[in-house]
Amino acid sequence: MKAEIIAVGTELLMGQIANTNAQFLSQELAGLGIGVYYHTVVGDNVERLTEVLRLAKERADWVILSGGLGPTEDDLTKQTLATFLGRDLVPDPEAMAKIDAFFASNPKRIRTANNDRQADTIEGARVLPNRTGLAVGSLIENQGVTYVLLPGPPSELKPMFLEQVAPLLKQEQALYSRVLRFFGIGESQLVTRLADLIANQTNPTLAPYAKVGEVTLRLTAQAASPEEGESLLDQLETAILQEGDLQDYLYAYGDHQSLAQTVLDLLKEKELTLTAAESLTAGLLQAELAQLPGASAVFPGGFVTYSLEQKSQMLGIPLEKLQSAGVVSAWTAEQMAAGARAHTGADLALSLTGVAGPDQLEGQEVGTVWLGLAGPQGTSSHRLYLGGRDRNTIRQMAVLEAFNLIRKTLIK
Ligand code: ATP
Ligand code: MG
Repeated sequence: MKAEIIAVGTELLMGQIANTNAQFLSQELAGLGIGVYYHTVVGDNVERLTEVLRLAKERADWVILSGGLGPTEDDLTKQTLATFLGRDLVPDPEAMAKIDAFFASNPKRIRTANNDRQADTIEGARVLPNRTGLAVGSLIENQGVTYVLLPGPPSELKPMFLEQVAPLLKQEQALYSRVLRFFGIGESQLVTRLADLIANQTNPTLAPYAKVGEVTLRLTAQAASPEEGESLLDQLETAILQEGDLQDYLYAYGDHQSLAQTVLDLLKEKELTLTAAESLTAGLLQAELAQLPGASAVFPGGFVTYSLEQKSQMLGIPLEKLQSAGVVSAWTAEQMAAGARAHTGADLALSLTGVAGPDQLEGQEVGTVWLGLAGPQGTSSHRLYLGGRDRNTIRQMAVLEAFNLIRKTLIK
């Protein structure tokens, strides 16, 4: 199966925004075993978009379009595709009801006639409801080619694709996939441990992918039934975990399950709360936790204590003792965690203090980080060495290590 991605928008051609939708879609399609042969970017222009559609129709089985589903005059993707296919536009009643509710909920919103265009879909298309916005998407088959219309904003395009289009593609490909997420082991080490499995892969296939601090393995099986698919995936997963001795590093399944999400899920399940006192990361950990829906159930608030004075004032640690122990020390990390826990009444508290660089601090190497952990069982400290990275990667890594520390504590 061949796919082609058409991103519509003059602002893409002008360089005002980067075509991250094409990147996202390509990654997802690759994961589904679908070859993407062309990326096209075209401006908001009927003739040129029609020309691009004509080319795509000859060379692709799936044509995925992004952008131009909004209410304004330059949003013309839907109209152009409808004309190209010789079909009419028809309003989708559910989408229209959502637009009605959107305007009814706030009298300051002014509704104009174009707003209704966001509810239009192409006659005969399967409607793709927009969970995170107002413009509906469409999926339509014509002369052996499937066209998918997705909204431009990534916050709308991604869930629409993942929740509604990917499952159809999987079905069509008879593909079953599983994503394993590992933390605490580098990609090269993981690949070395799995060298035999990777070399001998046929069905399922095995593809590693590395991000800051973590490695993802995608297992994809082709099978005649979901049961057969799952069983092939189970066998390969067992082989991976046993042959590679990787059980300790596996923290979650799924493309979108971050370490922070895993920690949030565990805290919820155990009905525990978590606070943090952050020095070198200055709120990064807390911001990451708060990005996730439902964070308020487990996160009461916390501290950003950059200077010694603020560590002392906000967390109630004697200043002279901080000065003699040093910022980057086990003692300070433990006191920070204990102070944060005592001041918020949270069940668990993390602290992060260390040297993000580029300069040394208190004679300690860049990348030296102490994590503190306080809980009902007492306090502990954990030294990390994250050197050889730039300042912000060190800060990001420190956050991931802290999440992993709390994860390991929670699953004990
Ligand atoms: P809207 O209802 O917001 O107008 P739309 O479906 O009409 O949505 P566009 O008008 O093309 O989409 O784009 C809206 C916004 O979505 C852009 O300003 C941009 O921020 C983002 N966007 C559009 N296309 C892409 C793309 N290919 N990659 C990343 N972001 C994009
Ligand atoms: Mg628009």
